Amino acid sequence: MSPAAQRAQSLATAACVAGTDPAAIRQLPDLTGLKNEVIIHRSHRNGYDHPVRGVGVKLVEIGYMMGTFPWELEHAIMPQDRAVLWFQGPMTGHGDLPLKTVIEIASAHQVPVIVDASAQCRPPKTSGASPRWARSLVIFSGGKDLHGPQSSGLIVGRKDLIEAVRANGSPNHALGRPMKVSKEEIIGLLTAVQLYLEIDQEGRKARDEETVARWRQALNRIPGVQAERSFPNEAGQPLPRMARPTRRRPPRQDCDQVVDLLATGEPAIIVALAGADGIFVNPMTLSPGEDQIVLDRLLETLQAA
Ligand SMILES: *Cc1c(COP(=O)(O)O)cnc(C)c1O
Repeated sequence: MSPAAQRAQSLATAACVAGTDPAAIRQLPDLTGLKNEVIIHRSHRNGYDHPVRGVGVKLVEIGYMMGTFPWELEHAIMPQDRAVLWFQGPMTGHGDLPLKTVIEIASAHQVPVIVDASAQCRPPKTSGASPRWARSLVIFSGGKDLHGPQSSGLIVGRKDLIEAVRANGSPNHALGRPMKVSKEEIIGLLTAVQLYLEIDQEGRKARDEETVARWRQALNRIPGVQAERSFPNEAGQPLPRMARPTRRRPPRQDCDQVVDLLATGEPAIIVALAGADGIFVNPMTLSPGEDQIVLDRLLETLQAA
């Protein structure tokens, strides 16, 4: 458990660098004499890697958007390396090695893999006891798909690495001491995880498909609108969302205006811009019945804009 996934990234990195060695834990973030490199696919670089760098490590990049060879990872793994950092999300799948290959190669060199899956759903059939996940550290945000406390995060994975995460975190005097999690957040996240495990993921997907289909059917009756189904969603989760429910034939709709009207109405509805010519509407966080509220507001807004 950590406060927010971003701090889980710092804790996981500290755990990989210092392990449970009390001297190394006390020394962080001074890395003098410690192994100080973390390998990352160049195509995975993004703003969320800051807390990893915040531990003081240097990121060593491998591969290109066009592709990465297993030998590049093999070659990059040096005695200096403490971990491989993997981002699961929209940055995944652009010329990177398969995660399975990364974990196999890294494990063969006793280098752990930190998988940032902050915005992901529980990976079907790969959670829990699966050896692939159990050989790495996997991070989930408590406030995203888990619907738990916004400022909580979850780290699961290899037992000895989890011990090292603990050793580097509060209440110990360590780099993670300021990242204390409150009792309220702990109970909140635990409850969120328990509720999440009961969710029928297939049923949820079917419900989202139904919602998107119903939205499209209703909105496509507006002349000039041709809403589409978009899959997967922006975080790469296997769930559908609706794309471009705005008028594209003249007079084209001003998407910025639509976004503003939706956000400032009652209830506020937050949608993402889809490039210059549309918006995405994602049913992911809706409770039963709210899909109709969203549809009513969309119909009203599109007709007003
Ligand atoms: C959202 C996200 C985070 C941050 O999660 P918080 O719980 O808000 O800290 C980190 N990494 C990735 C890939 C994310 O999508």
